[in-house]
Amino acid sequence: MARIRSAIRESDEPRVVPLRRQYLDIKARFPDTILLFRLGDFYETFEEDAQIAAEVLDIVLTSREMGKGQRVPLAGIPYHAAEGYIARLIAAGHKVAICEQVGEVTRGKGLVERDVTRVVTPGTVDEPAMLDARRNNYIAGIIVEGNRIGLAAADITTGEFIATEIGGQTIAAALMTAGRELLRLQPAEIVRPAGAGGDHLPVPEAAWLPDAATRSESDGWRWRQDRAEEVLQRHFGVGSLGGFGLGDKPLATRAAGGLLHYLLDMQLTGLKQITSLRTYSTDAYMTLDLQTRRNLELLESARGEKKHSLIAVLDLTRTPMGARMLRQWLNQPLLQLDELKLRQRDVRTFHQSALPRTDLRTRLGTVGDIQRMANRAITGTMSPRELIQLRQSLAAIPGLAGPANILEAAPVIPDVSDIESLLRAAVVDEPPAVLGRGQTIRSGFSAELDEHQRRAREAREWIAGLERTERDRTGIRSLKVGYNKVFGYYIEITTAALATAERERGEVLPPDYIPKQSLTNATRYFTPQLKEYETVVLNAEDTLNQLEGDIYRRVVGQIAAAAGRLLAAAEAIAYLDVVATLAEVAVQRNYVEPKLTHDDIIEIEAGRHPTLEAVIPRGEYVPNDACLTDRQRIVILTGPNMAGKSSWLRQVALIVLMAQIGSFVPADRARIGLVDRIFTRIGAQDDIAGGQSTFMVEMVETATILNHATSRSLVVLDEIGRGTSTYDGLAIAQAIIEYIHNAPELRCKTLFATHYHELTRLEAVLPQVHCSRMDVLEEGDRIVFLHRVVPGGADRSYGIHVADLAGIPKAVVSRARALLSELESNGSNARPKAKEPAAQLRFIEQPSPALERLETLDIDNLTPVEAITRLYELKSLLDS
Ligand code: ADP
Ligand code: MG
Repeated sequence: MARIRSAIRESDEPRVVPLRRQYLDIKARFPDTILLFRLGDFYETFEEDAQIAAEVLDIVLTSREMGKGQRVPLAGIPYHAAEGYIARLIAAGHKVAICEQVGEVTRGKGLVERDVTRVVTPGTVDEPAMLDARRNNYIAGIIVEGNRIGLAAADITTGEFIATEIGGQTIAAALMTAGRELLRLQPAEIVRPAGAGGDHLPVPEAAWLPDAATRSESDGWRWRQDRAEEVLQRHFGVGSLGGFGLGDKPLATRAAGGLLHYLLDMQLTGLKQITSLRTYSTDAYMTLDLQTRRNLELLESARGEKKHSLIAVLDLTRTPMGARMLRQWLNQPLLQLDELKLRQRDVRTFHQSALPRTDLRTRLGTVGDIQRMANRAITGTMSPRELIQLRQSLAAIPGLAGPANILEAAPVIPDVSDIESLLRAAVVDEPPAVLGRGQTIRSGFSAELDEHQRRAREAREWIAGLERTERDRTGIRSLKVGYNKVFGYYIEITTAALATAERERGEVLPPDYIPKQSLTNATRYFTPQLKEYETVVLNAEDTLNQLEGDIYRRVVGQIAAAAGRLLAAAEAIAYLDVVATLAEVAVQRNYVEPKLTHDDIIEIEAGRHPTLEAVIPRGEYVPNDACLTDRQRIVILTGPNMAGKSSWLRQVALIVLMAQIGSFVPADRARIGLVDRIFTRIGAQDDIAGGQSTFMVEMVETATILNHATSRSLVVLDEIGRGTSTYDGLAIAQAIIEYIHNAPELRCKTLFATHYHELTRLEAVLPQVHCSRMDVLEEGDRIVFLHRVVPGGADRSYGIHVADLAGIPKAVVSRARALLSELESNGSNARPKAKEPAAQLRFIEQPSPALERLETLDIDNLTPVEAITRLYELKSLLDS
């Protein structure tokens, strides 16, 4: 705001030169963008913008005189290289307004008119060079009212436009759901009604708005119900929004309308690629919170790299559409058994049939990004080379039908052969990168264009042969045909040569020679015919360019008209690509088809961790079972550090997740009863990614799990309680296990890894708790990790062994051993209670004084009055 005001004040000053006034006026309309102001061959940035541009783009910051005594900072980029620079500004989270010269450039007629022709923001980029082909680029719109939230998202590069409405018992719960949804979409930009940001919401923004997204605002009135309906109806040309499923979703409507309005403002080209809106419910999918995504390393590893993530193992897709769809599947595991079984069946078919699978995958290798190309056709921004890419992609489609035929759930690929034929007929095989820099339209496609080309060629050839014809005609061997910019084509004869010829043969100059220019020792002529051909040649390029441009736009228009079919084809191809990929991975990595059921059971035989097994040497990964049933709901896994506890926990969660996207799983056999959510939480000290994680954060997140899990959830708790002192931690860990075990609304399938081996005693007290431990081999003072999960609990910690293994100096290790055995023998002084078995057990079982009293009661020798008195005593003991 401050910037707009100062801009207006300055522009009122009489001393301001017109150019600067023009700049300030435009800048005031786009205050939160970096304004690229076209001046000749450069886009200039001024003042604060220049400072930002200089820093982000690493270009020189200078200054320019703009009115008397006013120097302003300036940094410029050459217009022909602008795309790369704009991409970097966008990547740095800035918005860029591109201001062009829109009026005629006439010398001396004052200022040329300028205006912003395009605003590029992280969510509205559509140039392929600025995008990652393998992922969507979403922009999200959000509106919060009462306990409800409307959320809409669009990817203008693929035409996808979706909206949902989220309700919750409390606004905090709804915000967290919205947060998970945003996490899934990973929008590049988030738009909200002006003033919606701020602290009036009960949950801090940092907890639910992804910080990587650029925040934008647009006027509040655009998010009003009536305005939102109006803009949506106008854009889609419909009289009612019921068909989009928005009827009973007022906030989804407002979010979609607000977002669309914002896009229309930014894009300035009509947004024709957005042809439909899909409403959806977050209930159909498993939502995954940030911790779970991170802990399971779905899209990137804990260190933030893409390799060593699940997607890196699974993504053998051959097309950008397929890559994007696989990410979507991974981000939205399914909850519906029927839907999953359809996917699974197609994966199985390809898994069993190597030939069609390989055939399909080879053919997909030549299919480009049909989805984004179709969108660029709609926006009219398709380049000549993209036309060839599209043609090659479409040429592959007929070959896909064969292998696709063996599937059951594969969507039909619509016939788009007409577009392929059109492209084959219309475009040359190797067109220039930019229209007009060489021939793009194939000869034979347009009679008009061909005729122009023929005439231009004839004229050029005629001129090329002119020197010889005129030498023959005049008999002057030294006659030359030349060209210069001012006079055009000419026939040049030296004065001496002409004199000699005339001396010998009289009049030699043909009658149609007209003198054009005299030089000191030569004369230049032209003829009416030369003039005519000259006009043809000189205008040829312009005429041809114009004509070719017209034809080109017609062709692109025809593609745009078929965009619906092209997009449907792209979607179908993406599906084929993903199921073939999952089958391929399953074959390469020896996965099996999990049996999916409605039962509340998870059984995995010889399971492996999909990412870990891919990075450690082949054959060295030790497979492990897992079993969670009605009677065995909670597994407490103990074992020394580095024994493989965390790996096993994640392995089980990942196998369940993979099963619920339709994938095969790394195991010998697996039976997966669908879970409604997967929760994971890792004890504070294990949380490398969070960095500043504290015990408080650990507890807040554990609380979220305890408050949201259901009996159908899978809960993975790794070293919970570790972030505090031993007794505290142990007590909290035990209380949590008891709570999950006993609370009727929880009783969730739970895996709990801990190095508190004391917790294994819970197995005796809680019927549905089962204990496992990581097997280790002890050889004297050394231990060897076998990475094997076996029944039972570890009876002690192996901290000193681990210290030894880690290379702590031998002297320290042996001193520690001595101290430990000292502590263990006269423990009661040094470590009160900790090693005393009875005390330990009491702590676990929480004996009550009432029970103790009951135990000592001699009922046979009580009078009735005494009995009633004792009963009162017991009751009051219980109450206290
Ligand atoms: P913990 O949680 O018990 O401290 P981790 O699960 O972090 O142990 O495992 C430590 C390391 O042990 C892993 O990084 C991996 O290299 C190895 N490891 C774990 N599980 C296995 C396994 N099943 N087979 C082979 N190596 C494993
Ligand atoms: Mg661990």
